[in-house]
Amino acid sequence: MQAKYNTRHSVAFERHDHRHCQHQLLSEAKALCTKRNTRLTRRRLQVLEILLRSHQPMRAYEILACLNRVESKTMIAPPIVYRALEFLLDEGLAHRIESRNAFISCDRPGHQCAAQFLICNGCEKIAELENRNSTVISEAASLGFSVDHAVVEISGHCAECRKNGS
Ligand SMILES: [Zn+2]
Ligand SMILES: [Zn+2]
Ligand SMILES: [Zn+2]
Repeated sequence: MQAKYNTRHSVAFERHDHRHCQHQLLSEAKALCTKRNTRLTRRRLQVLEILLRSHQPMRAYEILACLNRVESKTMIAPPIVYRALEFLLDEGLAHRIESRNAFISCDRPGHQCAAQFLICNGCEKIAELENRNSTVISEAASLGFSVDHAVVEISGHCAECRKNGS
């Protein structure tokens, strides 16, 4: 048996009840916005819900297409999606995956630490690892360097994809 971690680990690469996962993350995001007194407007919520559909990253135009499917009456313009994404990124409810030029919902909304992402080249799923004591960041600090933005993206193949030989 593994020791229990006090931080939740990412379930992205495990078989799990994603409906439950989705529901849980959504309510955490809502609670966080209430606590911070920031507004999860209908549009922002819609974009978050779209991102929460899977553990795969989505490009802005894919989000826009989904949004336009949900909202059949009016055509939604790209800046609306970008503004909603900006909010979600600022609040730590979503992250930008630089190497894919895409976005993913956060696994544990509101974490303070830098995140590291494990990106599967097979199923395209992404798991987030919380990086409490990054050696890179502490080494940077020892050089007197203050880190503004730290994203570590590690690509490879998840256990499931390796089993299936992809
Ligand atoms: Zn899930
Ligand atoms: Zn996160
Ligand atoms: Zn995979």
